[in-house]
Amino acid sequence: MSFVITTPLYYVNDKPHLGSVYTTIICDSISRYKRLIGEDVIFITGVDEHGLKIQRTANEKGIEPKIHCDEISEIFNINWKNWDISYDKFIRTSSINHELVVNEFYERVKESDDIYMGVQKGWYCVGCEEFKDNPDNSATYKCPIHQKNLEWKNEENLFFRLSKYQKQIEKIINEPSFIEPIERKNEIINFVSRGLKDFSISRTNVSWGIPVPDHNNHTFYVWFDALLGYVSAISSDTKEHSLEKSIIGGWPADIHLIGKDILRFHAVYWPAMLISAGMKVPKKVFGHGFLTREGQKMGKSLGNVLDPDLLLSKYGNDPVRWYLIKDISLGNDGDFQDKRFVDIINNDLANTIGNLLNRTSSMSRKWFDNKVPDNEKISSENKLKQLAKISVENYHEKFNKYKLDLAANEVLNLAINTNLYLNDNQPWLLIKEKDNLPIVKEIIYNVLESTRIIGLLLLPLLPELSSKIDSQLGSLYKKEIRWDQQLKWGLLISNSSLPKPSPVINKLEYE
Ligand SMILES: [Zn+2]
Repeated sequence: MSFVITTPLYYVNDKPHLGSVYTTIICDSISRYKRLIGEDVIFITGVDEHGLKIQRTANEKGIEPKIHCDEISEIFNINWKNWDISYDKFIRTSSINHELVVNEFYERVKESDDIYMGVQKGWYCVGCEEFKDNPDNSATYKCPIHQKNLEWKNEENLFFRLSKYQKQIEKIINEPSFIEPIERKNEIINFVSRGLKDFSISRTNVSWGIPVPDHNNHTFYVWFDALLGYVSAISSDTKEHSLEKSIIGGWPADIHLIGKDILRFHAVYWPAMLISAGMKVPKKVFGHGFLTREGQKMGKSLGNVLDPDLLLSKYGNDPVRWYLIKDISLGNDGDFQDKRFVDIINNDLANTIGNLLNRTSSMSRKWFDNKVPDNEKISSENKLKQLAKISVENYHEKFNKYKLDLAANEVLNLAINTNLYLNDNQPWLLIKEKDNLPIVKEIIYNVLESTRIIGLLLLPLLPELSSKIDSQLGSLYKKEIRWDQQLKWGLLISNSSLPKPSPVINKLEYE
């Protein structure tokens, strides 16, 4: 059984923004963690390429939609490589295998008698690709998200019988772990309680889409097709791609991590479509919050959009990851503040973790011939060993509940406690008396060992920093041994060489 995790399939109207980077980093961290504890992971990301909005964007650029999509999807692909994202599948919804899976799925839904021809009338936001309530029914009313006028639509569409699944959807969304966080769950329960309406799954005026097999001038509604990307991704690189191959290959998803704005599609429409096709529903839909900048909504008109590429080139991967993972509680809205960013990186990573490693390693090299000291056991109890054990246990517990901010805090707390232990014991004073040598060895060994565990715990969170810490301790991490087994106390090897210290993370300057 694989653990299947997905980012949303990002819409290719523009290059990745900070919000997409955030979601993808969280999924990356969870995927890395699951692999490290021995699970087989399928981490899916990709792009959602069809729809009127893309057709128009390409038209404005004077190019074919396919060319536009090729360009943007390549930007996404390169971008995730730059961020060292460990995805397993990158699905493009314009790919032929995806189309085959969509057609197969459509046949199944038809067999369940869930498709009929109807008339779709209403106000439509092209930005959202969604029909909207228009409170005053006026042509000047704007989509609250896009601030653009809605368009009146009146066309024959194929409909999906969502209303038939009212009872089943009610049951699913009330299951304790299906929707997180709880606020989002309540919103969805509210929405569903007002009664589910059938929704249209085809368009007649959109050529950039997957053709509906039995209706000449219809293409599938972009959401109907895009959600299926999660399924087709699983069999995307096998020779024979089919719905069945994807199901056998790992469906259902364990978690869809998405922004809260697209929760309704994932937690209501999607499960109903899947039940109709005789497929399992995802185990969890997690709707995370939005990112603001210095307390303000980011937007092109405000001119305050934070470019993730600039952040990456200026600060590197680890600092941005640490801020996004540790400072935002997954599910809540988050705020990016320049000053806070610099302070957090300097305090947590440079001062608390980096400095601990650097100064302890320097002391050990100076006093013990460039080596780790003997693992002396002088004191009756090893306080630091106990603290490390508790931190490791808590860390696993938090990670398994997707509380990555709290898992990151456990690592930081262990580093804070290790610094306290070092300062309380003052080995730099003890070393002046020759009789104290055994106790100094014990203290330094304990601090280095705790630092080794801190470095390992960082592996799913900050892979780069973790490996730098590991090499500063003599490259102790062994890929062939399960990572979580290496979190046990006492694996630091006495008398092994310590390389010359060099800073593992640089302090940032606030401009
Ligand atoms: Zn909109």
